[in-house]
Amino acid sequence: MSRYTGPVCRLCRRETAANRTGEKIKLFLKGDRCLTKKCAVERRGTAPGQKTQGKPGRQKVSEYGRQLREKQKMRRYYGVIEAQFSNYFRQAARVPGQTGRTFLQLLERRLDNVVYRLNLANSRAQARQLVTHRHFRINGRTVNVPSYIVKPGDVISIGERSLKSTVFQSNLEVARSRRAPEWLEFNDQENSAKVTQLPSREQIDTPVDEQLIVEYYSR
Ligand code: SF4
Repeated sequence: MSRYTGPVCRLCRRETAANRTGEKIKLFLKGDRCLTKKCAVERRGTAPGQKTQGKPGRQKVSEYGRQLREKQKMRRYYGVIEAQFSNYFRQAARVPGQTGRTFLQLLERRLDNVVYRLNLANSRAQARQLVTHRHFRINGRTVNVPSYIVKPGDVISIGERSLKSTVFQSNLEVARSRRAPEWLEFNDQENSAKVTQLPSREQIDTPVDEQLIVEYYSR
């Protein structure tokens, strides 16, 4: 499935410029660079193609505009194209209970996101690439589909040969030094992780208001 391959910092700059509160919106799409002063949003919060920063709050944003921006922000955060994103929504809407929470859970349970959350990749883009290059096993079987949805009880491990690669040697070092979310249990002896439960809303730190997205798709 195709995906956005353009300059990703533009996406953060677009979201920051569109955010009328003046708050910087960082989508964390470039790994460790996002945490440094080199981050494009830190250096200039202007919209792509715009030289100077407009004053926040001058332009009135409609309710639809807010919903649309929130939807775009979340979609870019997880690196999912529109067709796939709206499919997740339809899937979530069929499940009884809070649609927004189920929707967020589905995105969070994608294998590329899980690899990123375990700190086995420095960005979701790298996680996606590592998955497609067949470095991961789920319950002992190779899975090369980034959109694979993990479930409680699944064990994610790294292939024997992959463990020797430089990328995994450095990523595993990071994974051992950082904490994974509570719904994932990382075993640093086995270099594997178990999905212990479905992620609760409190365990998902994605800075989005999913209710706005529910409203966007329910129009
Ligand atoms: Fe966004 Fe990261 Fe680029 Fe900063 S460095 S603008 S957070 S992708």
